[in-house]
Amino acid sequence: MDYLAEPFRVKVVERVRRTTEEERARLIKDAGLNIFALPADSIYVDLLTDSGTSAMSDRQWAGLMVGDESYAGSRNFYKFQQTVRDLTGYQHIIPTHQGRMAEHLLFTIALTPGQHVPNNIHFDTTRAHVQHAGGKPVDLVCAEGLNPTIDKPFKGNMDLARLDAYLTEQGSNVPLVMVTVTNNSGGGQPVSMENIRGIREITHRHGVPMFFDACRFAENSWFIREREKGYSKKSVREIAQEMFSLGDGCTMSAKKDGLVNIGGFLALNNPEWSEKITNLLILLEGFPTYGGLAGRDLEAMSIGLEEVLEEDYLAFRIGQVRYLGEMLMAGGVPIVRPVGGHAVYIDAKSFLPHIPQSQFPGQSLVVELYRKHGIRAVEVGSLMFAEKDPKSGEVRYPALELVRLAIPRRVYTTMQMKYVGEAVLDLYSRRKELKGLRLTHEAPVLRHFTARLEHMEAATV
Ligand SMILES: *Cc1c(COP(=O)(O)O)cnc(C)c1O
Repeated sequence: MDYLAEPFRVKVVERVRRTTEEERARLIKDAGLNIFALPADSIYVDLLTDSGTSAMSDRQWAGLMVGDESYAGSRNFYKFQQTVRDLTGYQHIIPTHQGRMAEHLLFTIALTPGQHVPNNIHFDTTRAHVQHAGGKPVDLVCAEGLNPTIDKPFKGNMDLARLDAYLTEQGSNVPLVMVTVTNNSGGGQPVSMENIRGIREITHRHGVPMFFDACRFAENSWFIREREKGYSKKSVREIAQEMFSLGDGCTMSAKKDGLVNIGGFLALNNPEWSEKITNLLILLEGFPTYGGLAGRDLEAMSIGLEEVLEEDYLAFRIGQVRYLGEMLMAGGVPIVRPVGGHAVYIDAKSFLPHIPQSQFPGQSLVVELYRKHGIRAVEVGSLMFAEKDPKSGEVRYPALELVRLAIPRRVYTTMQMKYVGEAVLDLYSRRKELKGLRLTHEAPVLRHFTARLEHMEAATV
């Protein structure tokens, strides 16, 4: 089990409070067995998300001090604009406070109600914004992208035959096609350049623009270099540039591969869309040279977008996630394969076969991981996605019952990852002791954020 040592050293430290098992047992009980209700300072290793949780570098922190907070024409904006143009080649660069605002602006302007938007798999906020604009999101990921055990290099790929057929059938009813790199909702799996070229060819032929949901463009480019023929000698930056050159624009949450705690943007070539979007931006976010951010945030984002393409950084980043995944696989823990770019996903159904989906096996694992070891993971399974049929009252459970361990960028050492790996292995050795849960409170929508649960009396089959 090889891993790469950190390509940075520590200049500032943030103390994390250690808690006792008794304290955590009380805290998680008070939280209604819901990790969203825990005070974050009672957590030792927080793997809830990789979004907005990155550690900024000394250069980024220094960048904050050269923030130009002029209402209009901030110098940080011009630098940011140049950085994004150099990276993507797109003409119109529109800063937003985070990714979902870029989605909101794009779909409000580009989409007419009733239209369909294909994607490999829509991320939650992307899906929600397509729907909010009156459109229908359609997921066209390749078949292996839905199979958690099959080990293939590019499981984020779009099914090209289905995309072609879809565009033939829907014709002008599709305002744009989106490609999410890496495919977050499909386990952080990458999309190959060959596939992106195929999507380009098909969308071109049908006269439909193609946009990237580019949140993890650097991680995706790294995987292309590692896994795709003809790319091993290219720099990650060149690969990213080639990828963007095949599209017409992108939305971006810089809280991921922008290495900042807040920020995002929309970049595109279409001047009519850009003008309308800019007008809407002024209404919703602010003047076009700050777009809902401070000048200093723009500076940190420009620097982050450069640093994220450093090869030492990416080798370590992807390597650290893989290290945790391989440690779990070596111990027999069932995980989604291959290990993705930003997270390790445990297959809770196989981990806890004695707990039926109606008793939330994923959440049971999440609760025990916190109670025993002070680690916060998140359930992506029946608590998050089970749906009740409004007519029959019958509950439909999602195909996958996963627990996600999302790794923040540059935050935890590999020793802390080893701690996480050992904690999961400990749970795996005691898995028969884990019990199912039942709901005591649920909200009508997005219930996982506020649900309250309790343990069943005993494990039941
Ligand atoms: C995080 C994310 C978004 C939304 O970005 P926010 O900054 O959270 O608004 C959109 N798409 C993907 C793939 C994401 O991971």
